[in-house]
Amino acid sequence: MRALTLIILLAYKYPTECSDHMNKRAQILQDEYKRTLGGNINLTKQETKINNCLMKHKCDELDYAFEHPEYFNFSQHFFKYKDGIRNSNVYKIIKDMPKGAALHLHDVGLLGPDYLLNITYTDGLYVCFDNNMVSLKFSNKVPDTKCNWKLMRDARKISNNVKKFDAELRRHFTMVVDDPAHDYPCIKNTWSAFMGYFSTIFPMLSYRPVWEQYFYDVLKTFREDNIMYVEVRTILPPLYELDGTVYDPVVTAKAYKKIADRFVKNYPDFIGAKVIYAPPRNVDTNALALYLQIAKRVKSEVQDFFGGFDLVGQEDLGKPLLDFVPQLTAAAGELTYFFHAGETDWYGTSTDDNLVDAILLGAKRIGHAYALPKHPVLIEEVLKRDIGLEVNVISNAVLSLVQDVRNHPLASFFAHGFPVVISSDDPGAWEADPLSDDFYVAFMGVASKTSDLRLLKQLALNSLRYSALKGDAKTKAIEKFNAKWKDFVNNFQCSSY
Ligand SMILES: [Zn+2]
Repeated sequence: MRALTLIILLAYKYPTECSDHMNKRAQILQDEYKRTLGGNINLTKQETKINNCLMKHKCDELDYAFEHPEYFNFSQHFFKYKDGIRNSNVYKIIKDMPKGAALHLHDVGLLGPDYLLNITYTDGLYVCFDNNMVSLKFSNKVPDTKCNWKLMRDARKISNNVKKFDAELRRHFTMVVDDPAHDYPCIKNTWSAFMGYFSTIFPMLSYRPVWEQYFYDVLKTFREDNIMYVEVRTILPPLYELDGTVYDPVVTAKAYKKIADRFVKNYPDFIGAKVIYAPPRNVDTNALALYLQIAKRVKSEVQDFFGGFDLVGQEDLGKPLLDFVPQLTAAAGELTYFFHAGETDWYGTSTDDNLVDAILLGAKRIGHAYALPKHPVLIEEVLKRDIGLEVNVISNAVLSLVQDVRNHPLASFFAHGFPVVISSDDPGAWEADPLSDDFYVAFMGVASKTSDLRLLKQLALNSLRYSALKGDAKTKAIEKFNAKWKDFVNNFQCSSY
């Protein structure tokens, strides 16, 4: 609004023959603002005070960057500026702000390398180093796969330098590197490292007691970032015990529910969680049939805790949704879909076309929808069907879709007021906050300089509106959010930032 006021004031400085131009100009900018996401929200008196504080800090930070573009963080790689975010006052306000829900998350990518390193101090963990790879597995005896297994405790002891040993091990628990341009020259290298990260940590995390503690700590970490509800995509890995017992995926879903219920009991201000079953997409129709069976079984066992179905993995390399249309159409009556679609830079490819199939298959939300601006008819369908767009800006930057986030399609989504929710995908893998970093980068690096608290509030509200919560549960969740928001507004002190 500061910008608009300035434009109106300037209009008086121009000769009369220009005033018509200036009036029209101001009107256009005002009309455009109203169309942006959150542009129609009316702020209360107290919210306006927060907004003034927020926008002062936003303008200070952006004005400096505008004058010194060489220091503009968001045109650099996330790894280069992520630690500096902590000094931003805008970040600090966003961190303290209730953000509602995180709806696009993958279970094993949620906590960072320090947390994972700590797990390696748990008794019963075996390790094997082979070339540049590390394998991890809990067991009460030496694992029988071919590898030079040692108990982690022993391997650490014989290293004679625990600090160095741990630093080396930690490297396998993160994608963050000093020189991303060198290590990740293109999407192939990025995804290869990303998949390597998952295959290293998966066998360690799927040990049942570790898994249960991990998920509890995930919820705790998200709550500390002022998030009240999560929907977690999971491949429902078969959990195992030290004696080698391996469980059915239904047991994994039940373990999830047990932990979420316990967490809500301990923290009643937290709304809860749901799981979205999201197995790998690079499979044939027989495997997909099995997935759909599992999804239906899990749904019947945990009912409302089950959010729906998706397929995951690098979209460009996986099977397109088109290959599974008959099966997915047949199951659409029983399962709610939240498909990843259009997570690509390639225009006119099968990955790009996944957007068509996701929408025709009735997806309630679309993961990423990065390619959507290239599809005018699909944009109309998204708006008509009110499909939520789950945008994960930092993920798209780290996973090589966009370098300078000012070019992210989210800028257009915001400008047109599309039904966007911001999420964080796998924040642990790139050592980001559960959600605050993604909100910060979207707000400062992607949204208009004039976008303010209204955008942030609308994003938080959207996260509950487009969640898989239904009926009364959704109404209560929004009421709970409104109460949290009121607390935030009433206790806000600009001098704290
Ligand atoms: Zn994802």
